[in-house]
Amino acid sequence: MGAVSWINSRVASINADLVELYRDLHAHPELSFAEHRTAGIVARRARALGFEVTEGVGGTGVVARLVNGAGPVVLLRADMDALPVREQTGLSYASTAVDPASGEPVMHACGHDMHTACLLGTLDALMEARARWSGTVVAVFQPAEEVGRGARAMVEDGLFERFGKPEIVLAQHVLPIPVGTVATRSGAFLAANDSLRITLHGRGGHGSRPETTVDPIVMAAATVLRLQTIVSREVAAADQAVVTIGSLHAGVKENIIADEAVLGVSVRTYSAEVRDRVVEAVRRIVCAEAEASGADRPPTIELQMRLPVTANDPVALEKTRGALSAALGVERVLDIAAFPASEDVGILAEAAGVPLSFWFFGGADPAKFAAAEQNGTVEQDIPMNHSPFFAPLAEPTIDCGVTALTAAAFAWLDSNR
Ligand code: ZN
Ligand code: ZN
Repeated sequence: MGAVSWINSRVASINADLVELYRDLHAHPELSFAEHRTAGIVARRARALGFEVTEGVGGTGVVARLVNGAGPVVLLRADMDALPVREQTGLSYASTAVDPASGEPVMHACGHDMHTACLLGTLDALMEARARWSGTVVAVFQPAEEVGRGARAMVEDGLFERFGKPEIVLAQHVLPIPVGTVATRSGAFLAANDSLRITLHGRGGHGSRPETTVDPIVMAAATVLRLQTIVSREVAAADQAVVTIGSLHAGVKENIIADEAVLGVSVRTYSAEVRDRVVEAVRRIVCAEAEASGADRPPTIELQMRLPVTANDPVALEKTRGALSAALGVERVLDIAAFPASEDVGILAEAAGVPLSFWFFGGADPAKFAAAEQNGTVEQDIPMNHSPFFAPLAEPTIDCGVTALTAAAFAWLDSNR
């Protein structure tokens, strides 16, 4: 039996157990760096499969490794964390969880429960098929993707020194495209994300005596408007960027001029050159507006999160795409446009200095999706990741996710057939 037909028959037999697991993970989501229950389940399952398991890597991360003779080291990554969202899907296995530390409602609104289940299913398949391949599989169950810090934490905890440097990083993300399809892109795929917290320092005082103060609210207003000119006036038409000021806080009362104003700025870009140019423009404008306002000192600019562009190495992606096409059917492997969301998986590939292959796999009901597409209402009818209504189908999404990841892993391991 060839690898493809073997993968397909194998996936069907492990499916029922994985659907159970997925529903359990979905009902018990945990926030970033608090994935204790999830990590425990992952470690137990991977150990029971025969993998060598290390817990507590980069906080709550888990690494499951199988050294199976000489050959390439292949890194497979799934993220495990959930979001502070109150679930409204009405599913029988919907989450009612609250975070024990913050009391916030918690939901797997990005599908990381699906990624975790699919990677465990892949490990099961690879273990069963170990006579067919040689090399080393390093399965990385990563914490804290949603806050952009989990991948970095695992790298800083010696991921590559302790478990081996891979030849390739493989990862997938569920998206509400029709189940059974996968979608990817060569080159820059997901945007880089820089989150900045900017404190504008004014000089507070009585609301009746503005001439004795430096009003940070007027400074913030001018700054917010001027920041809008970066994309329209400083980024070339062929390039893409987003600058969003998502928060602006200042003042408590109408007759007091505040001391400071705090802006939350999110910058999305697709290349290092555009990224540097936009972030530098933000810095320049913020400082110049402060000076124009007569501020006593320049603003404080803190980089709170920095995620690189998620980019698929074109040569590596051809190999991975070939494996996905063989396993799922060439017509089910779609090319899509660059996507403005961000991911921290690129940090793993960047830190190891190796290529990444990253793809989306579908979780939406194909009939519902087709109807919404016909009505032009996909955005309204098909809830996107991070929505309280986000609800990928458990089946056959898991089959598809396990098939895709197993096929990709096989392509990068040495074949013993
Ligand atoms: Zn997310
Ligand atoms: Zn996600």
